[in-house]
Amino acid sequence: MTLCSLFSGTLLNPKQRDARLTKLISTVETLLDQNPLNKKVIYDTIRYIDQLWFRGQLLPLVNNKYGPIRVTLRVPLNIQNYSPQAVAGAVFIKKGGIYFMLNRQLFDTLFLPENKPQELKENGYHVGGVVRTTRAECVAHVICHEVVHLLMMVCDKDEIEDQHNLFFKNISFACFGHTTEKHGLVQGLLHTMSLQELKLHISAGQDVLRFLNGRWVLVKVTKKGGSHTTVEDQEGNVHRVHIGFLKPIGPRAIKNQGDFACDA
Ligand SMILES: [Zn+2]
Repeated sequence: MTLCSLFSGTLLNPKQRDARLTKLISTVETLLDQNPLNKKVIYDTIRYIDQLWFRGQLLPLVNNKYGPIRVTLRVPLNIQNYSPQAVAGAVFIKKGGIYFMLNRQLFDTLFLPENKPQELKENGYHVGGVVRTTRAECVAHVICHEVVHLLMMVCDKDEIEDQHNLFFKNISFACFGHTTEKHGLVQGLLHTMSLQELKLHISAGQDVLRFLNGRWVLVKVTKKGGSHTTVEDQEGNVHRVHIGFLKPIGPRAIKNQGDFACDA
């Protein structure tokens, strides 16, 4: 069976998936204990994911089609959107070569230093809709997300207009337990609830906090949708916001480190 047909029909059993994830996370923890986040750590992680999930077939296919993967630690200017901190990782083709990017600027400070004062400690970040509470987990799951992009490219499943299409979702949900096709890792945007839990805790008419330009501001939910919600700000302007950028106010809300003290 070829790699590209491997996941088209059957889903991985969740127990098998979780056992592989445990191995992956502990390997990334060890790599990061011994090294800074560098190109070798990233490449070794990609290779380990390939061995655990894709029988080691992915990297040779990438190599045949595009040449060797070049790992880079900086966000290229053309894919920065409103902030270089907002792009955790990417796979792209440049000058005929394939690049695998992880934003070191973002990961270098995540959860570090470990002896941070209690009030500055980070609870967790979303990657793939699930709360990740360590730096190794964040690094590993962003790499998993980008590996799915690699797989799509070698299997000709990538679509320019929809890079996170159904194929992408099927693979990232089944293999890596993600529940959304976005990595969602934004520095300062801390979470204690998964995307699914957030959906349960946010409803129309409720005052919630919205993460905007690095701080939390008060808004009112006017219409609840699937992953996007319509909110109204203090000035009465209406915005459509991804639910991952909102958090309920109340005892379960996240202790925030910004300047909007809601529950500190
Ligand atoms: Zn992506």
